[in-house]
Amino acid sequence: MHDFHFDDIRSILCLGAHADDLEIGCGGTLLKILANHPGIDVHWVVFSASESRAHEATASAERFMELSGQKQVTLRDYRDSFFPAFYGSIKEYFEQIKDEVRPDLIFTHRREDMHQDHRVIAELTWCAYRDHLILEYEIPKYEGDLGTPNFFVPLEESVCRHKIKTIMECFKSQREKRWFSAVTYWALLRLRGLECNSPTRFAEAFYCRKMRVSWNSHNRSLLNQTSPCKSEE
Ligand SMILES: [Zn+2]
Repeated sequence: MHDFHFDDIRSILCLGAHADDLEIGCGGTLLKILANHPGIDVHWVVFSASESRAHEATASAERFMELSGQKQVTLRDYRDSFFPAFYGSIKEYFEQIKDEVRPDLIFTHRREDMHQDHRVIAELTWCAYRDHLILEYEIPKYEGDLGTPNFFVPLEESVCRHKIKTIMECFKSQREKRWFSAVTYWALLRLRGLECNSPTRFAEAFYCRKMRVSWNSHNRSLLNQTSPCKSEE
C-alpha cells in the first residue's frame, strides 16, 4: 500500500464539540504528527466547555500540543446537546475563524455522527473550509454509529498508551460514565489497526472525503509541452 505522509503540514486546526472529543478522536495522530514534526502550529477549539470542564479541556489540550509551535486553545460555551439550536451563532463563529486560521490540515467530527452537536460542527467545517484537507474523526458511543473509515494512521503502542493515559488523567469528571474507559479506546485502536494492516497493530481512523493531488514542477513543465489542451487554445 502506498503511504500518505504529513510532511508538508505546517498548521493544524482541531475542532471538537465537547471537551475530550479531539483527544479521543485524533489525539494519537496529533501526538504522532508533532513528534515527527515538532513546531507545527496548532489551533485547538472546543465548542462546549462549561466552567467545570474548561479546566480539564485546557489542561488536556496543553498536554497534547506539548511539541507544537504556536498554540492557541479556544473554549466556547455553547450548551451541550443543543448545538442545532445555536446553528446561526456557531456558523458566525466559523465565519470569524476561517479568516483568522488558515490551516493545512483540519480535524473535525464525522458528518454522519449520530450526536447532533458533532454533526453541526462537521457540517459547518465543510461550509467554512472549502480548499483544505479535512479529516473527520470518530467517537465511539451508545448510539453505535461507527462506520467504515477510509484513512488510517498507524500508531505505536507507546503513542496509544500516552494518548489514553492523558485522557484518563485529564478528564476526571467523566470517570463515572460507563463509556469512559481505557479499554474502549484500546479496543477501537486495535480494531482500526487490524483493518489497515498496521505494522504496529494499532491505528486511528478517519473519513477523508476529498484529497487533491499536486505535481512537482518538473512534471508540470513536461505536461505544458505536450498538453492537447494547450494546442487547442
Ligand atoms: Zn462529543
